[in-house]
Amino acid sequence: MRLGIDIGGTKTAAVAIGADGELSDQIRMPTGFGAEAVVATALRTVERMTELAGGTSSFTSIGIGIPGAVDSATGRVEHAVNLGLEGLDLGPRLADRLGVDVRVENDVKAAAVGAHHLLGIADGIRATSMAYLNLGTGLAAGVVLDGRLLRGGHGVAGEIGHIPIDPARVLCGCGQRGCLETVASGLAIARTWPSNSEHPARELFDAAEAGDARAIAVREQFLAGVAAAVRLLVLTVDVDAVVIGGGLAALGGPLLVGTRRILNRWAAESAFLASIDLANRVQVIPPGFPAAAVGAALVGEDPWLKSSS
Ligand SMILES: [Zn+2]
Repeated sequence: MRLGIDIGGTKTAAVAIGADGELSDQIRMPTGFGAEAVVATALRTVERMTELAGGTSSFTSIGIGIPGAVDSATGRVEHAVNLGLEGLDLGPRLADRLGVDVRVENDVKAAAVGAHHLLGIADGIRATSMAYLNLGTGLAAGVVLDGRLLRGGHGVAGEIGHIPIDPARVLCGCGQRGCLETVASGLAIARTWPSNSEHPARELFDAAEAGDARAIAVREQFLAGVAAAVRLLVLTVDVDAVVIGGGLAALGGPLLVGTRRILNRWAAESAFLASIDLANRVQVIPPGFPAAAVGAALVGEDPWLKSSS
């Protein structure tokens, strides 16, 4: 059994993949804050999954997806601000304790591998190339090209949230102005649609649907940012599919329909864009798909993913 663990800012999820590819039940638990607490969370997750698997230590490999700058060759993670991590040799620390190889990958890249795998099963076909567009608090993408995870020379491949696109030049957390992330992300919605709702994006989309003129303007600006991200990914790496995931993917149909509407409008104005059919390449990940944990399990085991860095 291959174990995959997705360590998120507030919760940690885990799933195991059996020899014939079947998925175990997924478990979730709160993530601790700070280096020692994150290590303890991972160890407790392995313990729980071992119990569920029958009590024997039956994992042939362990992979972990975690936010931040991850060196997948060494298993070190840095700058995971939401987890209170400045630097942690997570892979070696866990391998020492568990006696099994532990691979670590950036969470969005792991989710890209998982979405590629799960959608390949769901569709009965495997798109050879796919981008996973993570719309969460921030915006980033993971790219699987010709069946291989694209890491780039320093793991930066896919950090498209920090490409400046917006003439309004709002200051981004990265220090630049007008980054894509300042237009299309949870942070962007929090700034443009201040709300006490538990789900501000849902509230925004509902208000726009009900005809609120200001909500419509804010929603359209957001959707134009999402559409720009899709266009950017296709024009740079020509992926067959752009799969939207992350917390904002819970918007579901209205997010997909709105993004396609804007892409179709652009296509009506540009024969070039019409020819590359952006609207039909975009989709939203189905609810409940454990993409990041499954991807972590695959990254933990799969030799060609290991060697693609
Ligand atoms: Zn930025």
